[in-house]
Amino acid sequence: MRVVNSMPILVWSAEPNGMVDFLSENWLAYTGMNAKAALGAGWIAVIHPDDIAPSLKRWKDLMSTGTAQSAEVEVRFRRSDGQYRWFLVRACALRDQSGAIRSWYGTNIDIHDRKLVEDEIRRSEASLGAAQRIGNVGSFSWSRQQEAFQCSEEFYRILDLELGTPVTLQRILDRVHPDGRFRVMSLRDKPITTTDEHENRLIMADGSEKVVLVKISRTDSADGTFEYHGAIADITARRRGEDALAQARADLAAVARAASMGEMAAAIAHEVSQPLLGIMANAELSIRKLSRKPTPISEATQAIGRIIRDANRASEIVRRLRDLYSDREPTHEAFDLNEALIEVLELSRFDLEQEGITVDRKLSSQMGQTAGDRVQIQQVVLNLLRNAIESIASNPGSRRSISIHTYKGEDRISLTLEDSGAGFQPEQSRKLFDSFFTTKPNGMGMGLSVSRSIIEAHQGILWARNNDRGGATFGFDLPAVARPKTSRPSS
Ligand code: ADP
Repeated sequence: MRVVNSMPILVWSAEPNGMVDFLSENWLAYTGMNAKAALGAGWIAVIHPDDIAPSLKRWKDLMSTGTAQSAEVEVRFRRSDGQYRWFLVRACALRDQSGAIRSWYGTNIDIHDRKLVEDEIRRSEASLGAAQRIGNVGSFSWSRQQEAFQCSEEFYRILDLELGTPVTLQRILDRVHPDGRFRVMSLRDKPITTTDEHENRLIMADGSEKVVLVKISRTDSADGTFEYHGAIADITARRRGEDALAQARADLAAVARAASMGEMAAAIAHEVSQPLLGIMANAELSIRKLSRKPTPISEATQAIGRIIRDANRASEIVRRLRDLYSDREPTHEAFDLNEALIEVLELSRFDLEQEGITVDRKLSSQMGQTAGDRVQIQQVVLNLLRNAIESIASNPGSRRSISIHTYKGEDRISLTLEDSGAGFQPEQSRKLFDSFFTTKPNGMGMGLSVSRSIIEAHQGILWARNNDRGGATFGFDLPAVARPKTSRPSS
C-alpha cells in the first residue's frame, strides 16, 4: 500500500458494480476530498461538469460489456485549489477463474501540460491551415527515403486530391501538365542544391487547368540525407487577371494604332498637298514651254527640276510620317534633340500656317546629345505641338504663338513648349496625364499618357503648368549623353 501511495499517479479501485472502494492518498491529497465523501460515487463531484456525462457513459459501457480488459479516457479532475487538470484515466478489470469481474483497478495520470501543448499545436496548425486557405498556398515536405509526401490540407485542395490519401510522386505527376512533368521528375533524379522556384500547370480531374508557383528549398542532415520543404501557390486567378490586362493593353495599342493610321492619313494629305500642287504647276509649265517653238529648253529643264525636287520632298514627307507612326521596335541611339525637334516642326508646318501660328524657337547651341528612341521622342514633341495648336485654335482672339526652348543643364537636357492657348483648369492638372482624360469632343485622351510613359522610359520627367499670361507650358527633361557635341544653333 505504501508503494501505491507513493507512486506519482493517482490510484483507485472499484467494485464490479462501479462503486469506488479505494482511493490512494495522493488522489485524496490532489482533490482535497476526504475518503468518506469520495468513495462510492462521491468522486464524481470533482470531475469537470463537461466531462461527467461522457466519462460516466464510458464507465457504464465498460461495466455492461465487460469485454475490454482495459479502457482509457481523458477527464478533467478538480484540484484542491479549484483548478481543473487533465488526466488520462485507465481502468482495468481483475477477473476470477470463471472470468467474472472481481474488481476494477485504475490509474489517473496527469497529462495536463502535454494536453496544453497538443492544443497549442492544434490551434497553430488550424491557423496555419486558415492562412494557407486564405493565401491559396499549400506546403509539403519530401525526402527520397519516403514514399509519400507530407502535405498540408491546402496542398490537397490545390491538387484536388482526396484528403488523407497518401500523396506519392506518381499522384502528383498525374496532375501536372505533360509539358511540366520533367520539373517534378528532376527533383528526384537531379536534386536541387539549395532552392528552386518555377511555375507549372496542373490539369484537374475535370480537365480544367490551374497555374501554380512552386518554391522548394533543400535541408541537408548530418547523415548525408536531405529533405525538401516547399510551398505551392495557386496563381490561376492572378494569371487570368494578368492575361486580361495584357489583352486590354494589346486592344488599346490596336486602337491607338488605328487612330494613328487615321492621323497619318490626314497628315500625309496635309503635308504632300503643297508639293503636289507645285508638281502640277511645274508640269503644266513644262508642257507649255515644250510646246513652244523654238523650245526654251533651259526653262523647261528648270521646271522639270522643280518637279523632281517637289516629288522628292513629297516622298520624304511620306517616309518620315511613316517612321513616326509605324509600329516598330524601340531603338536606343544617341541623337540631337534640336535636330529631331526641327523635323517635327517641318512636319507640322502646314497645320501651323493654316492656324496662323508663329513659332519662336530658342534652341541651345550647347545641346549635346541624348540617348534613346529618337522617333518616340519625336512622337512626344509632335503630340505636345498638336495639343498646343489645338488649344490656340480653340481660343480665338489669343496671340497665336508658340515658344519652344531647349536647354542644356549639367547632365540633363530639356525642352519646353509654351503656347498662348486656353490653358487648362488647375484642378485638372493631375488628370491631364491619365489615360482617356480628354476635354476635346473627338479626343482620345491617350497622347499625354503615352508621352509621359515614353519620357519616363527614357529616365525623364514630363510636366505641365499654366502660364501667368495665359496658355500652358509643357516640358520634359532627359539625361544628356556624357560626350558633348555642338549642335545646330538656334535659328
Ligand atoms: P487628347 O488630345 O486626345 O485630348 P491628350 O492626352 O494629348 O489627349 O490631352 C489630354 C487633355 O489634356 C486634353 O484633352 C486637354 O484638356 C489637356 N491639354 C493637353 N495639352 C494642352 C494644352 N497645350 N493646353 C491646354 N490643355 C491641354
